[in-house]
Amino acid sequence: AAGGRDGVQTATRKISAPHLQIVDPQAKTILITGGAGFLGSHLAERLIGEGHQVYCLDNLHTGRWDNLDALVASNRIKRVEHDIVQPLPRMERFDEIYNLACPASPVHYQADPVATLRICSAGVYNVLQRAAQDGAAVFHTSTSEVYGDPEVHPQHEGYHGNVNPVGARSCYDEGKRFAETLMTDFCQTNGLRLRMVRIFNTYGPRMLPDDGRVVSNFITQALQGEPITIYGSGSQTRSFCYVDDMVEGFIRLMAAAEDAEGPMNIGNPAEITVAELASIIIAMTGSQSRVVERPLPSDDPKRRKPDIARAQAILGWVPAVELVQGLQATIAYFKDELGASRLALAG
Ligand code: NAD
Ligand code: UDP
Repeated sequence: AAGGRDGVQTATRKISAPHLQIVDPQAKTILITGGAGFLGSHLAERLIGEGHQVYCLDNLHTGRWDNLDALVASNRIKRVEHDIVQPLPRMERFDEIYNLACPASPVHYQADPVATLRICSAGVYNVLQRAAQDGAAVFHTSTSEVYGDPEVHPQHEGYHGNVNPVGARSCYDEGKRFAETLMTDFCQTNGLRLRMVRIFNTYGPRMLPDDGRVVSNFITQALQGEPITIYGSGSQTRSFCYVDDMVEGFIRLMAAAEDAEGPMNIGNPAEITVAELASIIIAMTGSQSRVVERPLPSDDPKRRKPDIARAQAILGWVPAVELVQGLQATIAYFKDELGASRLALAG
């Protein structure tokens, strides 16, 4: 963050005449698709902090412009409402494009599975077409879901996965697998620089309270005294990464040399069961909520933990934020969110 602050100062340093600006030659023009979402808004904040000009393009399906409110004053952010399934509108020439547009929680990506597949296919193609026109470097957000219900544990990048092509999660899992292929072949054919991250479960402020993911569900249930819904026995595992660690991984990966080509896992290898997560959140919120069991969704992966040896060796990246520390910030965020929505209802 300290480097970021320096970046801001050098990017648009005003001199005597207010209409004249010295622009940092290192400052880039960057497009983030899905820039109004959870990860996209944190990434925008980081890139603006480093002195870049950032366009956030979003159709507001699961994102909110409010997520960018703190950045608007910087006048280096532009917001473009658009669906990537349609060819991208005319904007500036981009040096870099980060592709994040896609619903990420099972509730949202399963609500309209064909739309999810179109985002991962036609949408990705439209983003790539723009990258080719501009000669932009591409950063693509893939997912640990490409490993499906894994038979290899922890999951390393060389594992090809165990994915059901016609199950409830397939629109996302197969969509993201197809997107990896399209990204790779298109960028190779067109001589574009590509960096591709496989994100493992990430949480933090600006997740939607109603997105159905386990961290947001458990925290909102605990804060409202509602039953904590554990799907199945709760013995399935996940490994949760705090958003700041994830964004640090993005930045390092985008900057890395050719040995970072190909998909790269970024995630926190600290693996816990869903039942353990419920206990931690109940204890941290001091909640009186009881735990209830609900049916396990079909094809729900039993275990998930990233092998991050590649990120560690090539990027020197390891997560820095412990689960309890990250949950503290996330619980504080949801307290504010729930308080604000209660006020809105009362008003
Ligand atoms: P999110 O839902 O908060 O963000 C996605 C953003 O994309 C939203 O702002 C949404 O409105 C926008 N969007 C969706 N469809 C679009 C379209 N057709 N055109 C334009 N914008 C569109 O989710 P997130 O957690 O920030 O996820 C960002 C990316 O990271 C996604 O591609 C997701 O698949 C990937 N990912 C996230 C996680 C995680 O744990 N958060 C894990 C694996 C992968
Ligand atoms: N889960 C749960 N209760 C909830 C929401 C989710 O037990 O209220 C479980 C879900 O079945 C899965 C895990 O928590 O085993 C993580 O779910 P999430 O939707 O957050 O992410 P993903 O399954 O995509 O990793």
